[in-house]
Amino acid sequence: MSVDASIIEHLKASSADPVHLLREAARLLPGGVAALSSFGAESALLLAIVAEAAPDMPVLFLETGKHFPQTLAYRAELARFLGLNNVQDVRPAASEVADRDPTGELWAFDPDACCKLRKVEPLDLATLPYGALVTGRKRVQASTRTALPVVEVKSDGQLRLNPLALWSAEEVEQEIKRRGLPAHPLVAQGYPSIGCEPCTRPVSEGQDARSGRWAGLAKTECGIHTVG
Ligand code: SF4
Repeated sequence: MSVDASIIEHLKASSADPVHLLREAARLLPGGVAALSSFGAESALLLAIVAEAAPDMPVLFLETGKHFPQTLAYRAELARFLGLNNVQDVRPAASEVADRDPTGELWAFDPDACCKLRKVEPLDLATLPYGALVTGRKRVQASTRTALPVVEVKSDGQLRLNPLALWSAEEVEQEIKRRGLPAHPLVAQGYPSIGCEPCTRPVSEGQDARSGRWAGLAKTECGIHTVG
């Protein structure tokens, strides 16, 4: 779904304040904005901003069936703490899982196919009706994101709203403290980046935060690049 050019310009002009940006998006695109969240180590601040701006906004969570139990508990705790009342599970169809991963061990021998089945395809389908998707991506997260805009227009016309795109790691940390946001319980156990349980390992002090994801494999991304 593409968005009218005047709305895009208005959102760009509203982009300095994350809460204001999301309020305006929800007002101008009623029912047309959804947030994406993994309820991982870095998810709390974006979700707090969504809750302050529009607590009814759909928050799409990829329920791969392979999460740590701590992630599912954190999802419930954070939603309750913030007053988010529209968190939605996005899952692959049971028939697709039965067909393509009957033993549940696809992750071990073809993780790209597993992420495609459990993440990429279900999310593509779930996000089709929306004109704008809110993500927690930031420029500081990766060398590939150094030019990430707050309001991003994709080639198909769908918007990505990245309200924290320009925030530094220090600003994020301070704001998390100021808001008193609960941390994912696995962060304290050495997991600075948290994905599905079979594909996530704790990392040692000083190691790259994402080195515990698909450890030992060349794979570094699940292929969706949007969930923060
Ligand atoms: S992160 Fe691992 S378990 Fe999760 S969908 Fe990807 S390959 Fe499968």
